[in-house]
Amino acid sequence: MSLIGDLTDNSKPTDYGPDIMQFDELKQLYDLPFFDLIQRSRKVHEANWPENEVQLCTLLSIKTGGCSEDCSYCAQSARYTTTVDAGRLMEKDEVMERAQHALDNGSTRFCMGAAWKGVRDGTKRFDQVLDIVESVSELGMEVCTTLGELGEIEAQKLKEAGVTAYNHNIDTSPEYYKNIVSTHTFQDRLNTLRHVQDAGMAVCSGGILGLGETTDDRIKMLEILSNFNPQPESVPINSLVPIPGTPLAESQGVDSFEVVRMIAIARIAIPNAKVRLSAGRKQMSEELQTLCFFAGANSIFYGDKLLTTGNPQSQADLNLLQKLGLEPQKPNRGKDSPEAEDTRPREPALA
Ligand code: SF4
Repeated sequence: MSLIGDLTDNSKPTDYGPDIMQFDELKQLYDLPFFDLIQRSRKVHEANWPENEVQLCTLLSIKTGGCSEDCSYCAQSARYTTTVDAGRLMEKDEVMERAQHALDNGSTRFCMGAAWKGVRDGTKRFDQVLDIVESVSELGMEVCTTLGELGEIEAQKLKEAGVTAYNHNIDTSPEYYKNIVSTHTFQDRLNTLRHVQDAGMAVCSGGILGLGETTDDRIKMLEILSNFNPQPESVPINSLVPIPGTPLAESQGVDSFEVVRMIAIARIAIPNAKVRLSAGRKQMSEELQTLCFFAGANSIFYGDKLLTTGNPQSQADLNLLQKLGLEPQKPNRGKDSPEAEDTRPREPALA
């Protein structure tokens, strides 16, 4: 059975569940006439997400700037001169205040990010993070963290403290990755994602459009994500917001229709994932966001600020959802992370 049916015949999608797709099939989808593509992605979306709901996630930077890594899009790297100053780890009381505020405003998921290469068990800062996570998880929201690289022990301890999902983006294709980061490898990213899944946390992993990559790089990125076993629970699709002072400061934006195409093939390739319309949404019109929701996006970052860049005002988001008849999704802390299938490898194969 094929997830998408005969690619040449619009009338015949035959199955809407996960069906692991490889590059050629994804590329054929990407190259379909625009309306044919979003018609297919809409069918997959409706079969898997019939509730007309959008997940609202609040993202809080609990430790900003001063990162030792050199991701060339990032305002928080200590290697670039940007307007972001290095800060200290936020006190627990302040994080709790922000988490409560997010909950009161309808957030489903609270995601805490720290600009670190990674965390190590036995360090003071990791103990502090675990303490913060334990308290935030008692509020009842899904709890996500993004702290850089994790080993097996760190992943296990985060899971025990109450983390339900871990964000670690693969950003782009394995081949292009070395052009945007030199201080860690693509395989390092995959290793952390393996530890996250082995500890029983859900994986949140996606990419960034507009790094100078080709369309093929974008599709390869999705191929890798769709070949995870289990597939990611959420897939953020970011559009680069160029930051003055970073190597990608002069990057030209991404064509709106290419963003929609990526949302659509993410929905088809990873049908059970929340596909998150992430960075760059502030620059999108309401109509473009609506097209993204129609094509398969069902999650947004909610709140006035992402880690260091702007985001639409919360009330504007709620107004848009109301206009579209969409509801904020309820948190589901009890939902198990996706299960691995016995019949295929746990790791995506790198060429
Ligand atoms: S993306 Fe993360 S790891 Fe890379 S420089 Fe920014 S904060 Fe550091």
